[in-house]
Amino acid sequence: MAWQRQEEQGIRYYRSSLLAGLPWLVHAFSTRGTGKAPEGEENAGTDQAEERRRFFALFRLSPAQVRMVKQVHGTAVHVVAKAAGGEQTPEADALVTNLPGVGLATVHADCVPVLIVDPVRRAIAAVHAGWKGTLAQIVPKTLAQMEREYGTVPEDCWAAIGPAVGACCYRVSAERYKLFQESGLAAGLIEQDGIYALDLAAINRHYLRALGVPDERIDPANICTACHPEVFYSYRREQTTGRMLSLIAIKENGKE
Ligand SMILES: [Zn+2]
Repeated sequence: MAWQRQEEQGIRYYRSSLLAGLPWLVHAFSTRGTGKAPEGEENAGTDQAEERRRFFALFRLSPAQVRMVKQVHGTAVHVVAKAAGGEQTPEADALVTNLPGVGLATVHADCVPVLIVDPVRRAIAAVHAGWKGTLAQIVPKTLAQMEREYGTVPEDCWAAIGPAVGACCYRVSAERYKLFQESGLAAGLIEQDGIYALDLAAINRHYLRALGVPDERIDPANICTACHPEVFYSYRREQTTGRMLSLIAIKENGKE
C-alpha cells in the first residue's frame, strides 16, 4: 500500500494508508519539520518542544497526553495503564496501551518505527527498533506483552513500518552482520562482494509475519531516511541531533 504524505498547518508528516483505514485511530510519522533544523544546541530544546506541541496538536493531543520513554536500545516494553502521567519516564523502547486519548510516541533518526494495532481488543503499540533492538527482537517482545496485557492474538494485528534507513544506506561491519546471521535470520541480510548491509525494516517485517500477522496487514513505508535529506533527519548521514516522531493513539471518543 502506498504511504500518504500529508501537510497540515505547515507540518509535513507521513501515514500508512492501511492504518488510516481505522477511523478510531490516529497515527503519523513526522518529518524534519518546517525548515527549523535544530542546528543551534542552545535553543534546540525549546524549538523541539514547540515543534512537538504543534505536531501533537494536529491529532488533538496535548504534550501531556502523549507518553514517551527514555529509549536505550533495549527490549523493555512500557505498559501505559493510567491516562495521567507524572511518574518518571521509564527506560524502554516500546510502549503499549489500550487507553483512548493517550498518545504513544517514539523518536527516531534512522531506527525503525513500528506501530502495531490490535483492532479486536483495541490495543496499540509504538516500537523503536534500531539494530540492537531488532537483533534482540523488540517487536516480538512487544507482541508478547500485548498478548499478556490485552489477550492480543498476532493474527488479528495490523502493523505499519515507518520510514527508516534502508539497506541502500546501511552498510555494516562483518561482525555486526554475523550477529544477525547467527541469530538465524535470513530476511534483510544482504551480502555482496564482501560488503554487508542490513534491511532492518525487512527483518522486523519478517518477525511480524513469522508470528502470524497477516502479510496484507503489514504496511511498510519503504522510504529510506538517509536517501531523503530534504525530508528526514538522518543520524547516519549527518550525525544530527534532530529526530522524527512516530505517534499513535486511540481517539478519545473511540470513533471518527
Ligand atoms: Zn538509502
